[in-house]
Amino acid sequence: MSASPLLQKLIEAFQCLPGIGPRSSQRLAYHLLKQDRNNANYLADMLKKAVTEIQHCEECRTFSETKICCFCQDPKRANHILCIVETPLDQSIIEQNSHYQGRYFVLLGHLSPLDGIGPEQIGLDLLKKRFETRTIEEIILATNTTVEGETTAHFIAKLASKYQIRISRLACGIPIGGELEYVDSNTLTRAFNDRFILEDN
Ligand SMILES: [Zn+2]
Repeated sequence: MSASPLLQKLIEAFQCLPGIGPRSSQRLAYHLLKQDRNNANYLADMLKKAVTEIQHCEECRTFSETKICCFCQDPKRANHILCIVETPLDQSIIEQNSHYQGRYFVLLGHLSPLDGIGPEQIGLDLLKKRFETRTIEEIILATNTTVEGETTAHFIAKLASKYQIRISRLACGIPIGGELEYVDSNTLTRAFNDRFILEDN
């Protein structure tokens, strides 16, 4: 408990963030209200602005302040290849860490029938329309390797198979610089199944 009910509400509000429990939220709230409140004001302004102004791209569904995002507008990117990811964060990570130069489609989640998340909720009607109206030669399924991510990838692969589109999945296996003794059995099995030929004699 604190002397200020508003401070108590602020502490509770921080708990909507992932990984933030009662202790961490208390620390954050007290930190922001320390003497110099410029940072707290800046954070409040940015949060308000971002929540109000950032919407979803009408083409790929990623976060965007314009109707069509910069990735969909960029004339230098390849139109015929589409990378499908679960979240805008996944898209951003691929963009920052790979040399991928095609287009994206963001599902904003994964299939989860028990939670009421079906094909419509992850934008598959929009994706289907894209298959029908654009020349897409390949989709790269970059959903997570969780059960839900794999189920979603299979569902989309089945949908794409009706349109003569090459379907690929991100490879899974031993991390670069990783040691076999630390790799779990599922990853090792997948790495064996997805092995590639180094030299074709
Ligand atoms: Zn877009």
